[in-house]
Amino acid sequence: MTYEGQKQIVRTHICLDCGSGLVLVHDPATGGPTIRCGQDKSHLEYRLPQGPEEKIRRGEYPQGATERDKQALEAAVGRNLVQEDLYLSKDLESGEAVLASLRVLALALADKVGLHADLGHICIYRGKPRITIDGYYYHAARQHVPVRVGTRPLTLLERQDYQIEEGNHAWIARGFIRGEDQQITGLGIVTAAEITERSRKHPDQLRSPVVAKNPQRMAEKRAEWQCLRKLVPLGIEEESDADS
Ligand SMILES: [Zn+2]
Repeated sequence: MTYEGQKQIVRTHICLDCGSGLVLVHDPATGGPTIRCGQDKSHLEYRLPQGPEEKIRRGEYPQGATERDKQALEAAVGRNLVQEDLYLSKDLESGEAVLASLRVLALALADKVGLHADLGHICIYRGKPRITIDGYYYHAARQHVPVRVGTRPLTLLERQDYQIEEGNHAWIARGFIRGEDQQITGLGIVTAAEITERSRKHPDQLRSPVVAKNPQRMAEKRAEWQCLRKLVPLGIEEESDADS
């Protein structure tokens, strides 16, 4: 990772263990700067912070919230976001309109696993209904399984191991339950070609504008998503991991 890349992560991410801000410290092992928690240098993992609404969508409520409070908060967040439209009217990747029959399938899937479309727990991705990152966290929280996922770009050595081509963005995610490393990872890659690829239907447009806009963040999200799919089993068929 470049020094600029490290500085960027320090600005945008927080400690996975305690939620503190990050700092760059000298790493004797590599002789260069490395990212650490600003409060406790033994904390090595980090993640993106969540806003209050995102927390609700992930089943994290303010301390002392009653079941009634939780329902009221969820209703408010659901009304605000109208996520069903955001996630179920268009394919998350291509932006193409979703058929009504696929929407029905997606809603049935959400229902089956106790998730809520209006909280953004389900989406259409590459033509299939999929549980979202928020959906997996929500499911885990409802099962009282404290799940955390740390993310970071691959190191140079890992890029060689995984044979990541020059110009591709590659992140890795690592899953923790009750603070314990589950030895479960997810890999997220955005290829250079993907960023510039044109839509087949509309050659004047990019195939994935969302990916092109922020490929780093998208690679990170893909890594986290893949990790969560393994970390939070839902016990349904949806789980195939053939893509991403
Ligand atoms: Zn920390």
